[in-house]
Amino acid sequence: MADMKQYVQDVLDIVKKRNPEQVEFQNTVYEVLSTIVPALEKNPKYKEAKILERMVEAERIVIFRVPWQDDKGETHINRGYRVQMNSAIGPYKGGLRFHPSVNLSILKFLAFEQVFKNSLTGLPIGGGKGGADFDPKGKSDNEVMKFCQSFMTELYRHIGPHVDVPAGDIGVGGREIGYLFGQYKRIRDAYDSAVLTGKGLTYGGSLARTEATGYGLLYFVKNMLDAKNISLKGKTVVVSGSGNVATYAIEKAQEFGAKVVTCSDSNGYVYDPNGIDLAAVKEIKEVRRGRIKEYAASHPQAEYHEGCKGVWTVKCDVALPCATQSEIDLESAKALVANGCQVVGEGANMPSTLDAIAYFQEKHVLFAPAKAANAGGVAVSALEMSQNSERLSWTFEEVDGRLKDIMANIYQNAKKNAEEYGDPDNLVMGANIAAFVKVADTMLAQGLV
Ligand code: NDP
Repeated sequence: MADMKQYVQDVLDIVKKRNPEQVEFQNTVYEVLSTIVPALEKNPKYKEAKILERMVEAERIVIFRVPWQDDKGETHINRGYRVQMNSAIGPYKGGLRFHPSVNLSILKFLAFEQVFKNSLTGLPIGGGKGGADFDPKGKSDNEVMKFCQSFMTELYRHIGPHVDVPAGDIGVGGREIGYLFGQYKRIRDAYDSAVLTGKGLTYGGSLARTEATGYGLLYFVKNMLDAKNISLKGKTVVVSGSGNVATYAIEKAQEFGAKVVTCSDSNGYVYDPNGIDLAAVKEIKEVRRGRIKEYAASHPQAEYHEGCKGVWTVKCDVALPCATQSEIDLESAKALVANGCQVVGEGANMPSTLDAIAYFQEKHVLFAPAKAANAGGVAVSALEMSQNSERLSWTFEEVDGRLKDIMANIYQNAKKNAEEYGDPDNLVMGANIAAFVKVADTMLAQGLV
């Protein structure tokens, strides 16, 4: 064991040296590598073939200028990225994020996570991630369209149905995917439906893709709770975010009989003791593209609080972070546990910091890690690619049924590996090992490429 621990430490040192200041990327590499030592021990070939050293180096990264003009005729320059991390088990697959915080470290962290998440789905997709430091908030439809067209005018040469298939993420929803697809089609002069996922239903999108990440999170959490004979019925749930993942996590949690009392955006959170009125949230966020603060104006029993961190001080049984990375730090983890929270299901990517995860584990909180629990979105994206190849569309029930099966399989796989490696409730380790072994074995089979 000491030998492999040292191997992991050596690789972590290389990552720090080669990627100074990329803290998010360093943290996610640490999160994965520190848990897979027993699997390295079992198969010394991974070390001999330098699998870890290869995995932590992206296969390709593209960084490009994105010039565009706003409605007043003023010119803006943003920076665009695509990180093509690992294509061992399929074409690169992963979302595009448009948010002012986007930088190389965040996209490398997300791409690295994506490799393992995609492996867990059991579907043939490699891992990538991309985006730009563009803020769609407050922009007109015309400005968003111009930005998307300029972004795709460079990106198109690096993607394709058999090469790299981007999707949405923070700031990239149906509207943005539509503009991106339109520009790709125009430049390529070909109808490659499967070049992007998250498309509209009239041009190759899949039913249930919009709901998939949020629903999938709840399917995973339900599997985890069923194994402990715990029901979601009557449980108080705290959700952060009010975007795609949060909305459909709330919807499915309510369907399972839970009472969701919060949701948030980057300005603050609402607490509704009667349970969140989801139709009102959808109207504010999806139709009016407004702020969550507006919820309290039409719901007098609800409270609005500035700042998003306070959401973790609300008393609950279950916490579902669905906004962004590092939103639950150690202090928030302590507040959650002190208020009785027994279950955490990660809808966002790496929403809990490493010390928060360690604290949850120490306190025996049932913890569903992001790369397993939020894999439903990319899984249905892969099903969208299958439908595009067949030139057929499946019913909502068919896609949702497959999503349920995929989430159950991911849970079983993580659980089996956690048990096999001697820590039965540690789904972080179980999921990481299950995901890693599949990618590593494939890399071994394909030789030094
Ligand atoms: P959306 O853009 O639809 O929603 C994001 C939500 O999080 C918004 O409410 C947003 O508020 C809030 N938010 C964003 N940044 C911050 C921040 N820095 N601090 C506090 N709140 C913030 O994104 P998604 O719902 O698609 O994604 C949410 C998370 O889930 C991300 O981590 C994403 O990577 C992950 N994910 C998404 C998948 C998908 O299928 N969409 C699949 C798997 C993971 P505001 O409106 O104020 O910006």
